Amino acid sequence: MIKPKIVVSRCLGFEKCRYNGETIVSEIVEILKKHADFITVCPEVEIGLGVPRDPVRVAESGGVKHLIQPASDKDYTAEINSWNRNFIQKFTDIDGFILKNRSPTCGIGDVKIYKGLSKTSSAYKGSGFFGEYVLDKFPFHPVEDEGRLLNYEIRDHFLVKLFAFTKFKQVKQGRTINDLNKFHSENKLLFMAYNQSGLKRLGKILASYNKSNKEIVFEEYEKEFVKIFSKKAGAGNFINVLQHAFGGMSDKLSSEEKKFFINSLEEFRDERIPLTTVTYLIHSMAVRFNNEYLINQTLLNPYPSDLIKTSDSGKKLRR
Ligand code: SF4
Repeated sequence: MIKPKIVVSRCLGFEKCRYNGETIVSEIVEILKKHADFITVCPEVEIGLGVPRDPVRVAESGGVKHLIQPASDKDYTAEINSWNRNFIQKFTDIDGFILKNRSPTCGIGDVKIYKGLSKTSSAYKGSGFFGEYVLDKFPFHPVEDEGRLLNYEIRDHFLVKLFAFTKFKQVKQGRTINDLNKFHSENKLLFMAYNQSGLKRLGKILASYNKSNKEIVFEEYEKEFVKIFSKKAGAGNFINVLQHAFGGMSDKLSSEEKKFFINSLEEFRDERIPLTTVTYLIHSMAVRFNNEYLINQTLLNPYPSDLIKTSDSGKKLRR
């Protein structure tokens, strides 16, 4: 499988390019280095601000956001907007973004936006200049900041989406209907957990294939596929899907084994065990009964297992 291509804030362990000449180590970025290709960016350095530099901030005036450097009274709005446009035009095959939180350029939602250009203005929270541009141009892609990725559930959702987008990109490049059918089949349970009606729509698009409409099928499939992960899947959705998977094998199990599995679903529902424990059980049954369809389901193995630990923060261990 090809590696995900991720745009990452350069100060996250790649270069000492922060305003104070520092860098910040992000654990998820470090682990991902083995599994992904990174395109590093530092918009502030790339618009001509040096290292070290006086900090910049986002200030709103008359309903328009400005990138201001209070120490020099300079306005870098035109520079950053132009850099954003040029940067994004260069890349068409990005699978996801990991950006630095709280940064007036890279931040995606927790950036201080000052109300007014004065140095003492009050502030509210919003996105930085590059972060906002990315969210606008890639509304369905996995986009996160390194702070949010410390949370188990957010990291899991990001990784599920990232590796699904990467796999789809590969299928799209090969452009054969067989590969698209295989992709759809292997992701069926995952899609079912995230978005049952989306799964149905994807199935209909595939069923409409005839020898003359391959390009339309790919185009329509992609439009639906990117929306599949728009919302996180709840515990109830996973339970339904796992019951469905279990149903195909339960007649081969003893009543004690059945009871054990049903109890494990209850434990998952009550947040006493993570989803991975239940998917492991399903996986082991699939191996035991040589159920190739289930063994190949991405639901059971959506991304490399070293990318997340149950000790990662977050109250709910859903996966
Ligand atoms: S947050 Fe973005 S702009 Fe700021 S130092 Fe890091 S990469 Fe550069």
